[in-house]
Amino acid sequence: MKSIHQKIITISKIALFPGSFDPITIGHVDVITRALNLFDKIIIGVGENSSKKYMFPLQDRVQFIKDSFSEYDQIEVISYSGLTIDFCKKIQARFILRGLRTSADFEFERAIAQMNHYLDNGIETTFMLASPQYSPVSSTIIRDIIRNGGNATPFVGEGVKRKIILLLFLEFHKMLHQIIDRLLDDFTDGKANSLATCFNSAEKINATDPTKCTFSVL
Ligand code: ADP
Repeated sequence: MKSIHQKIITISKIALFPGSFDPITIGHVDVITRALNLFDKIIIGVGENSSKKYMFPLQDRVQFIKDSFSEYDQIEVISYSGLTIDFCKKIQARFILRGLRTSADFEFERAIAQMNHYLDNGIETTFMLASPQYSPVSSTIIRDIIRNGGNATPFVGEGVKRKIILLLFLEFHKMLHQIIDRLLDDFTDGKANSLATCFNSAEKINATDPTKCTFSVL
């Protein structure tokens, strides 16, 4: 006879939410938290594909998700590679959870879901419609904004925000080094002859958007 504990494990509805999460956005968080009403447990599977280039390393992508859901016992974060369906079997998930923002998402997801069902008809893919306010949010657009020095912080969680700000500071640091090198050259060439020249130039740095800093004496 099975113990109560074993019975609960047998009937528990485990869903896998697979993705690259490069990085996790408020759109992902919305879908996952809404789906908590449907499943006993949601395992967020962070895909690692060696042929894919990511902006954030696996360790960061996993940590950002853990930071976003630290107070949820029902949520676990695990990285995986290989077939999603094989990973479902490994973690005993009978459901795959995905989000739908647009009809393009639907067409893309439909093919994957049907193929996964062909590979294992014991696993069902379920879809959650994006909340209207989050449907324009995608990791691809967030990465583009970050790359071009824009402000992506409204669309990501605390962990990603900190990382973005750190990246901006690294850019700023790099730029300050370039300025110092240039000033050293100018001093050596006699184009600048006092500290006042340096301060005057430094004041003209656009500190609100360091990645777009221009240096007036250049
Ligand atoms: P992939 O690795 O396939 O590029 P992502 O990591 O970007 O996937 O996203 C994983 C899942 O989250 C996908 O089903 C995607 O449709 C869904 N998703 C992404 N952004 C949103 C959003 N803003 N609202 C709802 N679902 C989303």
